[in-house]
Amino acid sequence: MAPLPDRIVLASANPKKVAEIRDLLAAAFGDAVELVPRPDDVPEVVEDAPDFVGNARLKAVALCEATGLAALADDSGLEVDALGGEPGVRSARYAGDDATDLDNVDLLLNELLRQGAVDRDDRTARFRCVLVLRYPDGREVVAKGHVEGWITGARHGSNGFGYDPVFQPVEGTGTTFAQMSPEKKHAISHRGRALATLVAKLRP
Ligand code: IMP
Repeated sequence: MAPLPDRIVLASANPKKVAEIRDLLAAAFGDAVELVPRPDDVPEVVEDAPDFVGNARLKAVALCEATGLAALADDSGLEVDALGGEPGVRSARYAGDDATDLDNVDLLLNELLRQGAVDRDDRTARFRCVLVLRYPDGREVVAKGHVEGWITGARHGSNGFGYDPVFQPVEGTGTTFAQMSPEKKHAISHRGRALATLVAKLRP
């Protein structure tokens, strides 16, 4: 068990992720921990590590050093078995540096067709999330979560972001993440699971 810091600065500037982290930490620890938003003047970190842990660590260390506070960073992505684990750490930039979610999903569906991966058994995939909480004294807590599923043949639903419209989790009722309420998604998602693991590792 690691000590619960009084204040944690969040590396993510994504409002949906920040809200999810805030809700889960508040549910576990009430107001025992103050969440500090990412300061605007901290430059973006180049995420060039080969894996999720490495990228989350790069972001947490940069923010911890810039603020002197404990820093929490996450890195996540989608691994598709028929594509050798791609897009993986390149999930956000799969179709190019300026790619939108639409571009990335189009490329993913096309690549699967190019591989002849049409049947559900050939379209297995998982989302992974790694959280790194870095303390100013150099200690860190790493928490991981993943969710198994399939890539659907077309988009379904309009909630969420990224690859949610084409990811159908094994648990659930046969819908994609984009067809679920945020609460339902978070209960089984890679990020929800990584956060639950982090909470279990922290001592209030
Ligand atoms: P990052 O963790 O902010 O670097 O995001 C990695 C990328 O993975 C996102 O831009 C999405 O494309 C994808 N991704 C990560 N988590 C999710 C999710 O919960 N739903 C859909 N796409 C996701």
